[in-house]
Amino acid sequence: MPVQTFTAKVSDHTLIKDKFQYVTFELIEPQTLNFQAGQYLMMNVPGMAAKKSYSIASNPAENYKVEILVDVSPQGDGSLYLQSLNPGETISFMAPIGRFVLAPDPTEPKLVFVATGSGISAVRSIILNLLHTQHDLRPLSLHWGLRYPQDIFWEQDFFLLHESFSNFTFDLVLSRPPENWPLCSGRVTDCLKKHYQSLANTGFYLCGNKPMIEDVSQYLLSQGVSETHIHHEQFY
Ligand SMILES: Cc1cc2nc3c(=O)[nH]c(=O)nc-3n(C[C@H](O)[C@H](O)[C@H](O)COP(=O)(O)OP(=O)(O)OC[C@H]3O[C@@H](n4cnc5c(N)ncnc54)[C@H](O)[C@@H]3O)c2cc1C
Repeated sequence: MPVQTFTAKVSDHTLIKDKFQYVTFELIEPQTLNFQAGQYLMMNVPGMAAKKSYSIASNPAENYKVEILVDVSPQGDGSLYLQSLNPGETISFMAPIGRFVLAPDPTEPKLVFVATGSGISAVRSIILNLLHTQHDLRPLSLHWGLRYPQDIFWEQDFFLLHESFSNFTFDLVLSRPPENWPLCSGRVTDCLKKHYQSLANTGFYLCGNKPMIEDVSQYLLSQGVSETHIHHEQFY
């Protein structure tokens, strides 16, 4: 799909846990954006020459809008701008961009997604598209790493997906868990070591910060997973 410049209107704007801003844009011109789940857009930030990249969090089947999830803790030009937007405001961006998309079926009969923090955005788009739109029946698991219990959000949505789709499992990993935390804790790499006896015939999709991507990739390579089955999108 060719990269185009879009104008869009902010239609919804929600601050989640004082840390993440969830923004929905209704497309004005062009009116539809055809993208592959996992791709991102490059936002024009007024007064800045360089654009800021944000993965699209919504299902590409809803091609009349885009949703993004922004970690506002950096408080640099990009996150401050997105945090300051109000419903009704007009923005512009270029899209679709990126190669963090699913490998063609059936080279990966099982799929494992690993995200940290706002890295959930690209992974959410891929998972919603696989389950709701493609009706994909392959085993899919999501391991999502956050820091503190107070950072947790969207967990009900993912647990609900698990209840609705028997091929989908969801695991929240906290790096700073409270006492008696019943799920995984520490690094997501430790969680992968715990959960999988076999890493064969699996596509791994990693999205988030550099240390996680390096750590998980190193582990997978050391276990004989081919580089062609390790896909990643590094945010910072
Ligand atoms: C392909 C791609 C897709 C991206 N998608 C998203 C996305 O969906 N959501 C999102 O929040 N960010 C995403 N980012 C990061 C985003 O582009 C900006 O870098 C981020 O919003 C910080 O920009 P800033 O101008 O506010 O701060 P800057 O001044 O540019 O950054 C300050 C520091 O903040 C840290 N930082 C950057 N991004 C994050 C982050 N996401 N979480 C925590 N710390 C961070 C880095 O250490 C950076 O040096 C993506 C980056 C790339 C390359």
